[in-house]
Amino acid sequence: MSRVPDGVLREAVIDVAAITENVRHLRRLTESEVIAVVKADGYGHGAVRSAVAALAGGATRIGVADVQEALALRRAGITAPVVAWLHAPGASFAEAASVGVELGISSFDQLLRAAAAASVDRPVGVHLKLETGLGRNGIAPEDYRVVFAEAARLERIGKLRIVGLFSHLSNASADDDRAALRVFHDGIAAAAALGIAPPLRHIAASHAALDLPESRMGCVRLGISIYGLSPFDDRSSADLGLRPAMTLRAPVAAVRRVPAGHGVSYGYDYRTERETTLALIPLGYADGVPRSASGRGPVAVGGKPFAVAGRIAMDQFVVDVGDHPVAVGDEAVLFGDPTLGVPGAEDWADAAGTIDYEIVTRIGPRVPRRQVSG
Ligand SMILES: *Cc1c(COP(=O)(O)O)cnc(C)c1O
Repeated sequence: MSRVPDGVLREAVIDVAAITENVRHLRRLTESEVIAVVKADGYGHGAVRSAVAALAGGATRIGVADVQEALALRRAGITAPVVAWLHAPGASFAEAASVGVELGISSFDQLLRAAAAASVDRPVGVHLKLETGLGRNGIAPEDYRVVFAEAARLERIGKLRIVGLFSHLSNASADDDRAALRVFHDGIAAAAALGIAPPLRHIAASHAALDLPESRMGCVRLGISIYGLSPFDDRSSADLGLRPAMTLRAPVAAVRRVPAGHGVSYGYDYRTERETTLALIPLGYADGVPRSASGRGPVAVGGKPFAVAGRIAMDQFVVDVGDHPVAVGDEAVLFGDPTLGVPGAEDWADAAGTIDYEIVTRIGPRVPRRQVSG
């Protein structure tokens, strides 16, 4: 039976080889260049290690939401192209430009600020973001011409280097995504008419990259799938040939034999039906274990599947393990690779009424990440 080493209270084990292999697999499958998305601390896996692992798997560019995330990658020594696409109103792009961070540009104002950050011998790399239906940021179709014209002028005078045109899909349905793709193609044509024909065009994130081949366009921006998780409700990691990179685990911190009718955790929402053993697991909602999965969240304790009994507290929860022989120090796995007989992040997502993205991304800073490889 697996035990957690003495002294460990909780940990997220990050298998970086899984990230590398997932990227390799996805590159082959999509026959596209991969922009590996490591925003939000690499979906909880660690941004720097995720970027390094993805680049080792053949990703050619790193994507993050904001410039601060991009700068952190540069400070950690990541020299690959990095693009950031969500910006603070009025922020200067000078620091980003000084370390060669590329910018997703969603408005005329951002375009001018990007150009203002250029130095004499160094244009700022930009990806022009087109709004194609999602209703978030991006240059609106009615503004394509005026923004493209100015972008083309700024490129001609050496302020900007237009690296890409991009957009983002709703995944509402294949038809909705195809309609957005048509808008995107119109935008590409409008840009070309003004002399903008950048090397990259990218619109597909994991969902579309896996499901809608015509969205690939030779370059895909992949987040959840590189971590080995599925963007679909009805297909597992294994179905997609992916291996989950994160395992969240803790030792059993205490065991207690109790009689029938014993209350468990705040509110006594759970009462034992018969004499049984309660195991205390030192992970709680402060660590990102969703409280909404109280009474339901799946846990493998000592290699056997159980569920959370009663309410998940800030730091801990209880599992009723019946007569299963469980000792302090035995391993409790909340989620990992389901092919190894443990729950998956998607099982916690189901238990909490959310998606696997939120489960891994919210694992908190109090949980040490331990990197392994293979
Ligand atoms: C987060 C994000 C992605 C990655 O999406 P996944 O569904 O995790 O693959 C791609 N593009 C943009 C603009 C994003 O914000």
